[in-house]
Amino acid sequence: MNKYFSNLLFTGIILTMTTGIIRAEEPINKKILNMKEFKTNEFPALPYSYDALEPYIDAQTMEIHYEKHHRAYFNNFIAAVKGSDLENASIEKIFAEVSKASDAVRNNGGGFYNHVIFWDNLGKGSSGPSPELAAAINTAFGSFEKFKETFDNAAKTRFGSGWAWLYLTSDKKLAVGSTPNQDNPLMDVSPVKGIPLLAIDVWEHAYYLKYQNRRPEYVEAFWNVVNWDTVNRRYADAVR
Ligand code: MN
Repeated sequence: MNKYFSNLLFTGIILTMTTGIIRAEEPINKKILNMKEFKTNEFPALPYSYDALEPYIDAQTMEIHYEKHHRAYFNNFIAAVKGSDLENASIEKIFAEVSKASDAVRNNGGGFYNHVIFWDNLGKGSSGPSPELAAAINTAFGSFEKFKETFDNAAKTRFGSGWAWLYLTSDKKLAVGSTPNQDNPLMDVSPVKGIPLLAIDVWEHAYYLKYQNRRPEYVEAFWNVVNWDTVNRRYADAVR
């Protein structure tokens, strides 16, 4: 090997190592959404400003939702796993056996994780489902309109507080369903099971300031701020 080539190789190795370090410091939301180990004491940043989703989701709702509700779930989750076997477990493993854990772990772990997904799948200016996801939506629901109707229905009819989901089942099929409280499709206690791809929070705290009791209006508005880039990425990761 000549000197030039070995220098090139050395540079390559350093670059690879540096990239590895940068990757390790990616925001936690990216890490958990990629189903990697969950270990953190850091509350993940909101990926945009509070007013970024105006007028569909107002800035005051976003600030209270993120700063008060989400932060409380995070703090309580960290406190609930501290000193236990769960402290260093991946969040997927915690959820897969959440029936054995305390209510504090289930409710706050779900509350923490679900909001990370929700912030991640919101945003503005993204195009739509990728060709792969669009094809899968057509296979599962017949058309995008049918999918939207099914998802809307799940969100609108979830009684009380909870979430509606588009998720990928273990046999790699798309499905829509809803969960109560802060449960999610990764949990063994959930009636709908799979990998979350798109979520909508239908707790009143997610919409009451702007929409009061008009949940269907909030659900309609939601479609204007779906960040399909992240949904597409999550789908590509999940089918792999
Ligand atoms: Mn919420």
